[in-house]
Amino acid sequence: MKYKIAVISGDGIGPEITGQAESVLSRLGELFGHEFAMTHVLAGGAAIDVFGEPLPDETVEICKESDAVLLGAVGGPKWDGMPGHLRPEAGLLKLRKSLSLYANLRPAILYDVLKDACPLRADLVVGGLDILVMRELTGGIYFGEKGRRTGPNGPEAYDVECYSEMEVERIARAAFEAARHRSKKVTSVDKNNVLESSRLWREVVIRVAADYPDVTLEHMFVDNAAMQLVRNPKQFDVILTSNIFGDILSDEASMVTGSIGMLPSASLSGTGMPGVYEPIHGSAPDIAGKDLANPIATILSLSMMMRHAFTLEQEAAAIDRAVSEVLEAGWRTGDIAKPGERTIGTKEMGRRIVEALKR
Ligand code: NAD
Repeated sequence: MKYKIAVISGDGIGPEITGQAESVLSRLGELFGHEFAMTHVLAGGAAIDVFGEPLPDETVEICKESDAVLLGAVGGPKWDGMPGHLRPEAGLLKLRKSLSLYANLRPAILYDVLKDACPLRADLVVGGLDILVMRELTGGIYFGEKGRRTGPNGPEAYDVECYSEMEVERIARAAFEAARHRSKKVTSVDKNNVLESSRLWREVVIRVAADYPDVTLEHMFVDNAAMQLVRNPKQFDVILTSNIFGDILSDEASMVTGSIGMLPSASLSGTGMPGVYEPIHGSAPDIAGKDLANPIATILSLSMMMRHAFTLEQEAAAIDRAVSEVLEAGWRTGDIAKPGERTIGTKEMGRRIVEALKR
């Protein structure tokens, strides 16, 4: 079968990590008899350099015509001085909006072999961790009205947090559906004691929960959730939350599991548009071009692509198995190595995972 994949390598370590993911795709295609046809398109700083804007129309069109989008990461100091709407990250927000990617799935899994990379006390994570952060991605304060004006104390700036019932309902359904295939618990995170948008969020989530009597629902304030993630992370199964809270909590969850270089994500639409599969980390300009980046988050994003975009469960499992095997054999990039442990580079990690792939 033929699958069309748009590849946005992006900036910084982006091309290094997507390069390894492409090798995995090619080998997977050979092993399972698929053709993964990859088209490279520009976004972020790389697109600004060529087209003067972070998300050219051509990129959006090619992504829309594809079955899935693989993304590295965008951004870097070179473009930090650009006005907000022309920064690389603005291209990402526009891509999410253009493809209606309202649901961002961020699994945070602590592999048993990497338990030493977890900064928490060993007794808090016995048996590993498996948390899914379900973050709303196209609403809330990142997309609300924003601006500058003169207030009573002089110049001021504002960003508006606004959620419609429809936006909350569809992400809540995605969270309850996901929980049904996991440990059947949803923790909805809000700030309902002070924010009106959170009060609406909670009302809608409670209403949706009535359709999922087999799933336990609990509510938690975001400040408490930030604390509970380090105090007792094993209590969480699916964390359902808004765009900004999810942005922050998923980075925290990632560190609890060891390295930001290990965690994949999928951003999905309910409208038949292709999903975007990408690591949760950024373009890591501090290590770009040095063959130091961990490509595993990007490679595991392919496993999410196999499952969510193509329903290719065996292919997804083959990627997961190959990654586990390489880790169990003791191979580490610098970000997941113990002090003094021998490390390998981006290319070598990618090569070993390709070699470990089996049907
Ligand atoms: P970052 O995630 O790029 O880096 C944070 C730290 O983690 C750095 O020390 C980095 O070296 C390390 N790191 C990240 N990925 C790694 C990997 N695969 N292997 C090993 N180490 C890794 O976050 P930042 O430094 O805050 O942001 C850098 C740039 O990335 C900024 O321009 C930011 O706007 C952009 N950014 C982009 C995305 C995206 O494209 N989705 C997400 C976050 C940040």
